[in-house]
Amino acid sequence: MSLYEKAWQDVHFRIVSACRATGRDPEQIRLLAVTKGFSPEAVRAAYALGQRAFGENYVQEATVKMKSLSDIPDIEWHLIGPLQRNKTRAASDCFAWVETISRLDIAQRLATARSPGAGLNVCVQVNISGESAKSGVAPDEAVALALSVARLPQLTMRGLMGIAQETQDVARQRTQFRILRQLFEAVRAAGLALDTLSMGMSADLEAAIAEGATLVRVGSALFGSRPQRSEGLGA
Ligand SMILES: *Cc1c(COP(=O)(O)O)cnc(C)c1O
Repeated sequence: MSLYEKAWQDVHFRIVSACRATGRDPEQIRLLAVTKGFSPEAVRAAYALGQRAFGENYVQEATVKMKSLSDIPDIEWHLIGPLQRNKTRAASDCFAWVETISRLDIAQRLATARSPGAGLNVCVQVNISGESAKSGVAPDEAVALALSVARLPQLTMRGLMGIAQETQDVARQRTQFRILRQLFEAVRAAGLALDTLSMGMSADLEAAIAEGATLVRVGSALFGSRPQRSEGLGA
């Protein structure tokens, strides 16, 4: 058994159990393996287990990692950390997905930087916890932003992304995920064919699945606790 195999099986088991508990089909849930802070070898090990979608938070850390993994052709990279204006070109070059759109001007820069023909998948990030330190657009501005982003060329609006407050209180987790789910339905009712509701992490994926998540982003439950982020990696 490889280093991460047991953890990988455990996470899949949690996803399947959460689906069973709420009458959902496990086929409706994608797993994004979050590798921020972990080495390219961790990516290779998960890839060997069949994992294809990987999430990174920092553009610079990600591009270095991608370079050393360039022999693997079919990894789908998602940016799940906040994107700064000066990193939009690099991000549009190397990610298949940017899940953290929270401002229209950043989306416009991504659209301009992306080469024609190669659509960039995007999600609007919504601040569902209401904590000021968290990024994301305010819930009451999310539908309008999603509709504006969907009109931009080169971008494919796929859905909404959110991070719940860190709490053991499952009812509170579910209340916050429900906000995102309701916004997702509202954007769909406004005419956009969204298919991605990105919510749930190692600590709260069950609550997210119960509220309708289609993509869960899992790091530590797959790879162990993250090493401290070293200085100088850049954002
Ligand atoms: C780090 C991170 C994750 C994964 O968190 P874990 O608790 O390690 O599963 C998921 N989503 C985002 C946006 C993250 O920054």
